[in-house]
Amino acid sequence: MTLTTDGQNTSVMSGNLCPAVHHLYFRYIFRIDTTKIILFYTFAPINDPEAIRLWQRSLCESLGLKGRIIISRHGINGTVGGPLAAVKKYVRTTREYGAFKNIDFKWSDGDIEDFPRLVIRVRDEIVTFGVSDEIQVDENGIVGGGKHLSPTQVHELIQERGEEVVFFDGRNAYEAAIGKFKNAVVPDVETTPGFVAELETGKYDHLKDKPIVTYCTGGIRCEVLSMVMKNRGFKEVYQIAGGIVRYGEKFKDGGLWEGSLYIFDKRMNMEFSDDAKTIGVCQLCDSPASRYYNCTNIKCRKLTLACDECVADNERVTCSNCTPINA
Ligand SMILES: [Zn+2]
Ligand SMILES: [Zn+2]
Repeated sequence: MTLTTDGQNTSVMSGNLCPAVHHLYFRYIFRIDTTKIILFYTFAPINDPEAIRLWQRSLCESLGLKGRIIISRHGINGTVGGPLAAVKKYVRTTREYGAFKNIDFKWSDGDIEDFPRLVIRVRDEIVTFGVSDEIQVDENGIVGGGKHLSPTQVHELIQERGEEVVFFDGRNAYEAAIGKFKNAVVPDVETTPGFVAELETGKYDHLKDKPIVTYCTGGIRCEVLSMVMKNRGFKEVYQIAGGIVRYGEKFKDGGLWEGSLYIFDKRMNMEFSDDAKTIGVCQLCDSPASRYYNCTNIKCRKLTLACDECVADNERVTCSNCTPINA
């Protein structure tokens, strides 16, 4: 085990504690200081996804990392967690492969227990829209996608074009229910593969000549969505580089984002500051709510948006179709 400077300081600081307390204290500090999670993706041509899978598997295993990685002939998409030193080594080694040299790794503090397993798979798409054959990639990423805007460039576009600019949510409707850009269009989709059919209904045809800014959690879904939209006649499509995560890092709750960000791990959601608005509504009592729970009926598991009071009242949160155990 490699001790960080912080870890060594901890040992000195807690030197007078009894051994059991010392052990707990040390474990606590060690965990929050040194466990890191990285989120990353890149679109680049991969000739032999299976070979990359085997390489990534042995790399992660040798470093003791857990998480989930998807590889396709269009690129790689992953969430990996583990001790800081091991994650750093993973990043360095992964970047040595030419197609992965420009991967933008997003770092966050995390708990390794959020990732009990290591799952690495080859799929048709690294984010499933059901348009595998429509995707073409070259060394610059997806061919024909929307122009990437930094968070600052998003604001510049709005200054220039005003209310003409349309934010288009590239996530599932339940994600947008707790947080979204002001006045965004939220397509009625429950899963990402639903986007193509939703766009082809014609519901959004009146937006085809407007400047459209697509956004999603970390940017990956908009890489595909913006291309899919352009291919279907939307003329001026942009995407927020790094997604809501990067926008929130820059502007927190002082810009055009409103509410809480849904995230795909045990944390379920996050806010960018203490000023975050609550825009969601508890599905059990209609009070403001920002946090989803899985219905505790194991045959259901439906995501249920519930307020703190309903959660405190019910030992087991259930969706509105299932009966709470103590109701
Ligand atoms: Zn409630
Ligand atoms: Zn249920």
